Amino acid sequence: MASENPDLKIAQAHTLKPITEIAEAAGIPSDALIPYGWTKAKVDMKKIDRSSDKPKAKLVLVSALSPTPAGEGKSTTTVGLSDAFSLKGKKTVVALREPSLGPVMGVKGGATGGGYAQVVPMEDINLHFTGDFHAIQIANNTLAALIDNSIQQGNPLNIDPRRIQWKRVLDVNDRELRSIVVGLGGPAQGMPREDGFDIVVASEIMAILCLATDLKDLQERISRIVVGYTFDRKPVTVADLKVEGAITMLLKDALNPNLVQTLGGTPALVHGGPFANIAHGCNSIIATNLARELGEIAVTEAGFGSDLGGEKFLDIKSRFGGFSPDAVVLVATVRALKMHGGVKKDELETENVDAALEGTANLRKHLENIRKFGLEPVIALNRFPSDTETELKAVLDWAKENGYKAALSEVWAKGGEGALDLADQVLAAIEEAGDFHHLYEPEDGVENAIETIAKEVYGASEVQYVDGAPAALRRLKKNGWDKLPVCMAKTQYSFSDDPSKLGAPEGHVLHVRDLIPRLGAGFVVALTGSVMTMPGLPKEPAALRMGVDEDGNAIGLF
Ligand code: ADP
Repeated sequence: MASENPDLKIAQAHTLKPITEIAEAAGIPSDALIPYGWTKAKVDMKKIDRSSDKPKAKLVLVSALSPTPAGEGKSTTTVGLSDAFSLKGKKTVVALREPSLGPVMGVKGGATGGGYAQVVPMEDINLHFTGDFHAIQIANNTLAALIDNSIQQGNPLNIDPRRIQWKRVLDVNDRELRSIVVGLGGPAQGMPREDGFDIVVASEIMAILCLATDLKDLQERISRIVVGYTFDRKPVTVADLKVEGAITMLLKDALNPNLVQTLGGTPALVHGGPFANIAHGCNSIIATNLARELGEIAVTEAGFGSDLGGEKFLDIKSRFGGFSPDAVVLVATVRALKMHGGVKKDELETENVDAALEGTANLRKHLENIRKFGLEPVIALNRFPSDTETELKAVLDWAKENGYKAALSEVWAKGGEGALDLADQVLAAIEEAGDFHHLYEPEDGVENAIETIAKEVYGASEVQYVDGAPAALRRLKKNGWDKLPVCMAKTQYSFSDDPSKLGAPEGHVLHVRDLIPRLGAGFVVALTGSVMTMPGLPKEPAALRMGVDEDGNAIGLF
């Protein structure tokens, strides 16, 4: 065996079905399949008949309580729950995000689930997969080069080099590149100016790829991107640069969703992957729509807690995609509850029922927030080996006493068999699906959207616009961009903008530092607290434990 890591070991020991078999079972016509080897394929969306009036699958969104460094297992639960539906004879398709290599090499690891609830081939998906992230990186950086070239070649658009908004991107956690100076070396090397890199998953191109409904929409969105401002403060767009065609061309294959399989043989569409703290946190609309068209049940995931990816799925992705979820699963763990109840990470192995119950304050806030959207949540209590029976029972009893649907999820240890009860509860929630509605209307203005999210979802008492935000707000209003949905950039660890405030803080002030128009994506990003768009590596990155064996198999991926 190539690796001692349990996730990788299980994935490497698994015999995968040929992707043609998975596609056939999913109902994907063979001429729509573009195989990348035997176990991965892209689906050519031009060959998919979208005119059918067959009822769309029920849509299940998986989100979570506020994450902790202990890890919650959202992807694990999403995959295991999908396999449970498949075991129950429901035609199920799961739609997930693609992993970013930044976290793979850093702390968090990959994003293919864990234990016996994984999407495979795990190595390929976590590494370079079908090249989508590379395509996004090149498209983003080609645009950056074209902007600088326009300035170098006489600057016909009168672009102010100090007001360029478009950054370069790299799918590496590289703090050295956050703020840089480019164009040094004299007149032949370009115009010296301050620049910086973001991680690929924060790129507006990533958001656009995930929100576009087809190739035409992709190109229209790209043409609307604001790259910067002129010396007289007028916006400069990709359409002004006349390069929307070239950028779209670089993305035409990446726009097709990727088909793989779960360990249980459920078809999985893994496509797009914006982070949920600094971007909108959901896989592509195209993949979710395809999952809805192919299956009876489509299961999808939004990143981090329901205050981040969940809120953005419900207020941004659902709005642009024109769909609504039928049920929401909130993943919780005894470990995370104990941390929200005040236990330190290195003491999580010790039984502490009181702390777990104390930590339900965080979970309760997430549950109540989901109800604000008119949806009924189901708690999936993801069982970790260190959890005690007493702790698990205490949390499940708490849920029952407080009127919440809940089930123990043992998918990490047992695969789909470990979520049969959870699947039943989700089916019951689907039957009871209420009237889904968004939390705010963009027409009421960006300030209203931010205040609504801050007060209703985060429990804040007030929003303060600090640093560059007041001027940015004036600019949004002046340009008529203040009636768009808002994509909040906030720490994932707390409902507040302070990552140290665990549990369910109330009455805090949300500090908005900047407002960035992302007209291609179709939203305004509100940067809060000190959240970063280019992460760094930790003292002991996961990369230290990685390698390849003599057969070329990965070691140390998780
Ligand atoms: P998330 O989607 O919430 O970030 P993942 O599903 O990616 O979390 O899981 C993060 C890590 O935690 C993975 O390495 C996975 O194997 C591990 N994990 C998840 N659930 C369990 C569990 N029940 N027991 C042990 N490890 C788990």
